[in-house]
Amino acid sequence: SGFAALSLSADLLQVVNELGYSQPTPIQSQSIPLLLQGKDIIAQSKTGSGKTAAFTLPLLEKMRTRLARRSVSALILCPTRELCAQVAREIRKLGRKHPGLQVLILSGGMPMGPQLGSLERGVHIVVGTPGRVLDHLTRGSLQLQNLQNVVLDEADRMLEMGFQEDLEKILSFTPAERQTVLFSATFPGTIETLSRAYQKNPTRVTI
Ligand code: AMP
Repeated sequence: SGFAALSLSADLLQVVNELGYSQPTPIQSQSIPLLLQGKDIIAQSKTGSGKTAAFTLPLLEKMRTRLARRSVSALILCPTRELCAQVAREIRKLGRKHPGLQVLILSGGMPMGPQLGSLERGVHIVVGTPGRVLDHLTRGSLQLQNLQNVVLDEADRMLEMGFQEDLEKILSFTPAERQTVLFSATFPGTIETLSRAYQKNPTRVTI
């Protein structure tokens, strides 16, 4: 399939095939090679474009060798609880050949107890809303010193919802040597400013 041209390993190719993804979507063909090279991207995309798999497949490709240790390697920030659930579901589907992969949702409006317990046991990927993620960072229950990847999903919506300051604080907790991926449907000046402040030489992806 068209996925085979994207330098993904056989197990991930098999998963996309089993899920019935016969061809990569345009956002996937453009983003996946850049992300596998470790580049930061600022991508224009909306729901339904296949953006979740576009950022998840490269994460999973790189995470394979780090599964033995349960520390947070990727942080995905989304504007709403519903979107967090949707993204986590897609990651779990795509990660079904990653033995022991732990994906945790940290969204607001959900009880703290189970979140604290899961963090204590250790997870590889966190999908969360900015307020709750920042809450865990300031309590010290979420540790990001081994973080490799940050994804800002629907970044324009997060800014519209007033999360700019939370996002800046969250990013200040992350290692400088990280890959920062930004997906947004629109590019107001505030998104450009966020990108300039927190991304390294980002490649723009438009479809
Ligand atoms: P998203 O834009 O990430 O919300 O994805 C929209 C839907 O498309 C999800 O249900 C995915 O499972 C599905 N999807 C993602 N990539 C592909 C693909 N290459 N072919 C067919 N379906 C896909």
